[in-house]
Amino acid sequence: MTIQNKVVAITGASSGIGSATAQLLASKGAKVVLGARRESKLKELTNQIIAAGGEAVYQVTDVTNPADNEALVQLAKDKFGKLDVIFLNAGLMPNSPLSELKVDEWNQMVDVNIKGVMNGIAAVLPTFKAQKSGHVITTSSVAGLKAYPGGAIYGATKWAVRDMMEVLRMESAQEGSHIRTATIYPAAIHTELLKTITDTTTASGAKDVYDTYQIGPDRVANVIAFAIDQPEDTNVNEFTVGPTDQP
Ligand code: NDP
Repeated sequence: MTIQNKVVAITGASSGIGSATAQLLASKGAKVVLGARRESKLKELTNQIIAAGGEAVYQVTDVTNPADNEALVQLAKDKFGKLDVIFLNAGLMPNSPLSELKVDEWNQMVDVNIKGVMNGIAAVLPTFKAQKSGHVITTSSVAGLKAYPGGAIYGATKWAVRDMMEVLRMESAQEGSHIRTATIYPAAIHTELLKTITDTTTASGAKDVYDTYQIGPDRVANVIAFAIDQPEDTNVNEFTVGPTDQP
């Protein structure tokens, strides 16, 4: 089965990579189930997809709340009868030097970037095990591959999710449920991500980096579509995607 008619749930669907992925997959015939906290954005995107001839529903979802993740999975099953793919993409990046002790922001990143993914896995696993198939994709970052000053906690959260994806795939194969998993490592992609940086020096450094490169979230969406489009017995485990000239 290719993308057409697959039911795909997406967290962090209200902007950036999640929104671009929803639009691309819907244009290829997937039925998309959109989750994030900003209802107005979700509503707008849902209407846009439907107006273009696609199928979409949304549910206000805070990924830090396990019940919200469960409700998103349930919405997919209620509206479309199944769930084939969950894209655990919600995240934030309030980077700062450790010495600034922005401990609340550290905890926020752990809650959304790590626990949000854990909550998504917990919500979807019973369904995927019962179906004996499914696909879990998550957005890590090049910060999950390479350390840089200012990115200690963000990078740590992004290192963490790769392990979850790989072990989920291995365990599910052992248990006979054949769940596919993929970890994406985007580099600098123009989205709303920098808005969460409160440290002014870090924010200005990040802006300089992002101003150098111009590629948008549609490029990440393309590779997610590629991973979904492979035959069920073929797993695209991970890929890095970013501007050609970014070191
Ligand atoms: P955006 O800021 O545009 O998107 C982030 C999304 O996450 C929004 O839809 C936001 O929606 C959602 N979100 C944040 N907190 C929560 C929450 N508690 N519950 C549910 N949704 C939440 O940035 P990107 O599209 O760039 O970010 C998507 C992912 O890509 C993130 O995981 C990010 O770390 C990763 N990434 C991005 C890179 C880039 O250069 N842009 C590079 C590497 C990785 P809402 O506020 O409505 O809840």
